[in-house]
Amino acid sequence: MLDVISSGFKEAKLKFKGKATLTEENIKEATSAIRKSLLEADVEYGVTKTFIKRVQEKALGQEVTLKAGKAQSKMKVSPADHFINICQEELEGLMGPVDSELKYAVNRPTSIMMVGLQGTGKTTTTGKIASFLKNQKKRKPMLVAADIYRPAAAQQLKVLGERIGVPVFHIEGENPVVICEEAKKKAFEWECDTILYDTAGRLTIDETLMTELADIKSSTSPDNILLVCDAMMGQDAVTTAKSFDELLEISGVVMTKLDGDARGGAALSIKEVTGKPIKFLGMGEELDRLEEFRPEGLASRILGMGDVVGLMQDFERVVEDDQEDQAMRMLQGQFSYTDFYKQIEMIQKMGSLKDLVAKLPMQDMFPQGAEVDDRELLKIKAMISSMTKKERLGADNLDQSRMQRIAKGSGRAVKEVQELHQKFTGMKKMMSMMGKNMGGMMGKIPGM
Ligand code: GDP
Repeated sequence: MLDVISSGFKEAKLKFKGKATLTEENIKEATSAIRKSLLEADVEYGVTKTFIKRVQEKALGQEVTLKAGKAQSKMKVSPADHFINICQEELEGLMGPVDSELKYAVNRPTSIMMVGLQGTGKTTTTGKIASFLKNQKKRKPMLVAADIYRPAAAQQLKVLGERIGVPVFHIEGENPVVICEEAKKKAFEWECDTILYDTAGRLTIDETLMTELADIKSSTSPDNILLVCDAMMGQDAVTTAKSFDELLEISGVVMTKLDGDARGGAALSIKEVTGKPIKFLGMGEELDRLEEFRPEGLASRILGMGDVVGLMQDFERVVEDDQEDQAMRMLQGQFSYTDFYKQIEMIQKMGSLKDLVAKLPMQDMFPQGAEVDDRELLKIKAMISSMTKKERLGADNLDQSRMQRIAKGSGRAVKEVQELHQKFTGMKKMMSMMGKNMGGMMGKIPGM
């Protein structure tokens, strides 16, 4: 995600290696690397220019302050860190401030009108937001299929609704304005407190589409209008956002497919160009791959400093009630393949391994270009699934013939099963040793 931009900042940081201070020359070299990467990532030209100017001015200002202060105290923070701090502030300024909270109505259902071009991920995002509202905001949402042109659109929404357990409203053969108006009445009957209208999209902006959307807006008076933009569309996404905002006055943007796009410059330009903030990020095709947008989190990920707050949020989202029990069993050496399987599933729910690693701090410690492969998790799951219940719980020892059977059942090589077992046993031993070392402390915990 945003790899091109990140690499520009990484290169910029290197320009200060071995340098004692910020100088006009090294600031210029560094910002030139950043400028190149921003343009390559399709950040709008004007936005790039202003951003670079702001960073340069601030850094040059720092240079003066640092020089003045040098006589009294030795510089504690390296020039690279000073420079990256400035970049962090300016990136946050570029994408924020953002209030990712939606506007909620009082005494009547809240409405959210979802708009966007076809293929941007609008329907998927509508489902993601409904699921987010249901699970994390404890609301009772309903989905409204108001796209009557794409043949499979209503069906797609119904399938999504079923998967997340949210009712879907649609009237076959009716026009979108009527569908949306009727949906408002239905919300009371179904006792739903949030209505999400999935409106039609087109391949490009045209008058018919815009008129229809304007009609839906005036008849439903939505509390929120969210525009779904595809990060892969680069500057076109920004132009589209401008047009939608001029006509509909959108509340904010959901930037999708940031997981897949190495460039994704639109994420940096959209607020500066349209004045409208990104409220959510779409980070994958799965329905739980939605993040509330935090400019400081994205800025810090771009700068290779991770995003611990984001990681904690991911964790809280997926953590299960028995996690504490599991941790205790682990420290007592009772950790089983069944527990391991559950943990893999939890990691998978948190997102792709690449995204998770990108949120860890001290990114410099990871080898550049190192690929973390989600398929490894799938292989391990397949091997665990091929074990018998007793083997999974550790009651039956895994001998050679059992390993052969597991390998055959999971379509993996025997060597892979052996490796898994070796690593698993090693990990279990290590955890148990840790548990013993913590013995004094654990004695105070009931049940230990
Ligand atoms: P719509 O025409 O705008 O309603 O688009 P859809 O919701 O049908 O999505 C189009 C495609 O984009 C589908 O294959 C989705 O799975 C995919 N998609 C949607 N959001 C994301 C995302 O955040 N990341 C990725 N990688 N794919 C996405």
